[in-house]
Amino acid sequence: MTTFNLRQVKLRTGAQFRDEVDVQLEPLVLGGQEYLPVPADVPAELTITKAGSGNVYEVSFRTRLHGPCFRCLADTVLEVPIRAREYHANNPAGDEELRSPYVDADALDLSRWARDALALELPDKILHDPNCAGLCPVCGKDLNVEPHTHDEERTDPRWAALESLREQS
Ligand SMILES: [Zn+2]
Ligand SMILES: [Zn+2]
Repeated sequence: MTTFNLRQVKLRTGAQFRDEVDVQLEPLVLGGQEYLPVPADVPAELTITKAGSGNVYEVSFRTRLHGPCFRCLADTVLEVPIRAREYHANNPAGDEELRSPYVDADALDLSRWARDALALELPDKILHDPNCAGLCPVCGKDLNVEPHTHDEERTDPRWAALESLREQS
């Protein structure tokens, strides 16, 4: 976990701090599947700007996520550029809008912030190809490799039995 010690940054109002920080990224679990950021440590650009009423935090980095395709489970690599921004007031006075959940007692929780920013940036479905045909719901074969359909009434023996009953009546 990467946390950034905010006590090392002394800023006057209007001044800006900018540095490159290595941020450790945790694997993301989406729909029961694990997605691994590669590399696990990314160089991120961190900017802190002191406004009169509080601080503006900005972080940007690029990462690649490795994991299974949502439909066919093929290995999928997703390139994700991240740019996130947080504001934390000097005196939030209980107002959640003015409080960043990643700023706490002079520390900035960079790993958690980066993970949440990454999760927000991801598409609803991670696909190895936007036209992925997925797996056959009947036999489980990869429809991208073997496109096919099933005539269920003929191949499923239960249907065949029903069919013969119908014919008899
Ligand atoms: Zn796929
Ligand atoms: Zn099939």
